[in-house]
Amino acid sequence: MKDSASTLQYALKHKITKYLVEEEVIMNWGVLKKCILMLALGCGIHLSWLAWDIFVIMQPQYWNFVNIDLVHSQLRMNSMFLLGLAVLIYPCYKFQGNKKVESFLPYLAIGLFVSSLCRDAFIVGIVSPVSMIAYVCLLTVGLVLFNRRLVYSMLVPASIFLGSCGYLSFVGELPYSPLFNIKDKFFFNGFWLISMLYFILPILAVCMMLFEILLSQWRHREKLIQRLSQIDPLTNLFNRRSINQCLDRLKHTSKNEYALVLLDLDHFKKINDFYGHHKGDETLVKVSNVLSEQLRESDIVGRFGGEEFILVLTHSTLEKAQQVAERCRQAIQQIDVLSDEGEKIIVTASFGVAISKPDLRPQQLLSQADKALYYAKACGRNLVKSYNSSLESHLKMDHIRAV
Ligand code: GH3
Ligand code: MG
Ligand code: MG
Repeated sequence: MKDSASTLQYALKHKITKYLVEEEVIMNWGVLKKCILMLALGCGIHLSWLAWDIFVIMQPQYWNFVNIDLVHSQLRMNSMFLLGLAVLIYPCYKFQGNKKVESFLPYLAIGLFVSSLCRDAFIVGIVSPVSMIAYVCLLTVGLVLFNRRLVYSMLVPASIFLGSCGYLSFVGELPYSPLFNIKDKFFFNGFWLISMLYFILPILAVCMMLFEILLSQWRHREKLIQRLSQIDPLTNLFNRRSINQCLDRLKHTSKNEYALVLLDLDHFKKINDFYGHHKGDETLVKVSNVLSEQLRESDIVGRFGGEEFILVLTHSTLEKAQQVAERCRQAIQQIDVLSDEGEKIIVTASFGVAISKPDLRPQQLLSQADKALYYAKACGRNLVKSYNSSLESHLKMDHIRAV
């Protein structure tokens, strides 16, 4: 019973993570949908204000801590803002994807949201904890969600308004924190402190949650981009860039012997020409699968070019590498690719093997494997050849190149 509950919990968590992080909800939303989120947040804030207003009005013992007339007017203002924000949700929903509406409605929606918060910030005190926290949280979330133009066009007037209120309060032209009837000893007043916490906690919780979701999506996207830059899209093997990075790492880290195996499909152009490019692609995918199956976890297989692959066999010897290459050669020979007419397509590959030496850089080793591959082609294809010094002299003979 407990097991099935935890499996369900795990499945639910997985589903939520997949929905929030992998499918990138919120981040991938259109601007009007994001506005709906902000409007809903605004409605939540004004609802909590309304609850606070009503609570204070119904509890006369707290009236000496507040300006009760202002609480009454705040009740009306909160109701009006709540109504205004809620009403705007409808056009934001209705006109999603409408470019013309998307160019002005966000300014109206976010503008109303921000103005209502500016007013609240003034009446509770612009440097009160709740105003500061709301300012920072909403600015950060806003910058992640919306384009800079929208955010700064709200931020600049809001900051000017709050700064002016602060200045006018400082010179005595405006009351500071007119809602609370407290001239000093703020932090010794339990009512004030609890009211602050009451307003801060929901804003902080919602913004942190949003921020957490957006950051996770951002990290996920980073990983995805990194993966895309390393992987060949057709075969899902490492691409040339990541193989080169891997060779660079080997140069610095490898103390053990390792082998490089280059392989190139034989007469692959003919497969494309006779059976079509789609059959060529299918062959490349099947060869990739076969190569991955034949290797150990610690080995690396990559697509080095069009129909050319590379194997990096760590902790290997020349004999072992030759055996691996031979195994791969035989497995490729047995690959089943049928033409559109059901005819079996012959797939073979030639292999060049080179083993590391302490004084040899990976790129030099690669060039040796390439020469061995070239030799395998010259000797008739569908063969494994290893690099050795005598091979150089063979290759110098022009007639081999011509084969
Ligand atoms: P050899 O035995 O000498 O290697 O001959 P080959 O025909 O295999 O070599 P060649 O270099 O003449 O032709 C390679 C062909 O591989 C040409 C190119 O169209 C094809 N090719 C490269 N990348 C892809 C790909 O992603 N998909 C498909 N279908 N074909 C590709
Ligand atoms: Mg080829
Ligand atoms: Mg080739």
